[in-house]
Amino acid sequence: MTKKTLSLAVPVYYEQEVILQFLKETKEVLDSLDVDYEYIFVDDGSKDNTVQILTEASKTNERIKIVVLSYNHGKAFAATAAFTYASGDYILYMDPDLQDPPKEIPRFLETIEKGYDLVWGIRKEKKDSFINRLYSKIFWGTLNKYTGLEIPKGIAVMRMFTKSFAQNLLAYKETNRFVEGLFMKVGMNYTTIEIDQRERFAGTTKFNFKKKMQLAFDAIFDFSELPLKFAVRLGFLFILGGIFSLILLAIEKIFFIEYQTGWTSTISLIIIGIGLQLFFLGIVSLYIGRIYRESKNRPLFSVKEYINIHKDKQ
Ligand code: UDP
Ligand code: MG
Repeated sequence: MTKKTLSLAVPVYYEQEVILQFLKETKEVLDSLDVDYEYIFVDDGSKDNTVQILTEASKTNERIKIVVLSYNHGKAFAATAAFTYASGDYILYMDPDLQDPPKEIPRFLETIEKGYDLVWGIRKEKKDSFINRLYSKIFWGTLNKYTGLEIPKGIAVMRMFTKSFAQNLLAYKETNRFVEGLFMKVGMNYTTIEIDQRERFAGTTKFNFKKKMQLAFDAIFDFSELPLKFAVRLGFLFILGGIFSLILLAIEKIFFIEYQTGWTSTISLIIIGIGLQLFFLGIVSLYIGRIYRESKNRPLFSVKEYINIHKDKQ
């Protein structure tokens, strides 16, 4: 039987401190396995020495293939580019910061060879600050509740999938790109395995709290129409409230109970009403913005340079 091939799909962005260690640790594990492997590094517009270090390493190691994007597209797009150029039977999606340990790679291989299309890594315990853990909990909880995606709890970046899974995934061309949601949409036959997590080997996180909130927000808007439904429901509630208050006023008038005067209540209602309308208009606009972006049908990424790679794909 011919050897299976494995592609490591790795987005990199300002990772000069970790990249060599990543190559070293993964090589140790991969060389001991019965697979043919390649690295697909996608540089997402780093301005440090990440690309130079990788290029240098690729001169003595033809397994190292590099796609340099022309500017910072965001991780979802860098990952999509990596999946596009990965040619292996199996693809392992991994960050280079060594939070997900390479020693787990054999277990991913063993599991996928049982016939799954996707094997998700699940963190046993996240080595992360309290606030980040709290964020993760709220983020994934809310997302699953309102999008019906049922993303497994505690997922890590590290996951392995088959070529046919990748082809299905790449058929999703949307520009509003929440990758974990797309993985779930593709569905197919998946399982999870628990893996250890470590601290970032070096360098700093690229996702501050604000960026993470933005991601959560995008995910909800990309995978759910809940905000729109919420607007409709609240609007309906206000109509009911209005009718109810009209009836009350009519009763007051008919029975000559002391009649309400003054403008405070009127003004407050007007202000609340205008506020609500703007709020809902805002929600609708957010969806329109997304439709606009989608309708331009732009390519998902643009490549500045290919190193060690044939560029007949995409
Ligand atoms: N990354 C990227 N483009 C970006 C931001 C991040 O390709 O705009 C990559 C980065 O190189 C890293 C991965 O995404 O490999 C995860 O980032 P990080 O480890 O900083 O996030 P955290 O693990 O703290 O959530
Ligand atoms: Mg990380």
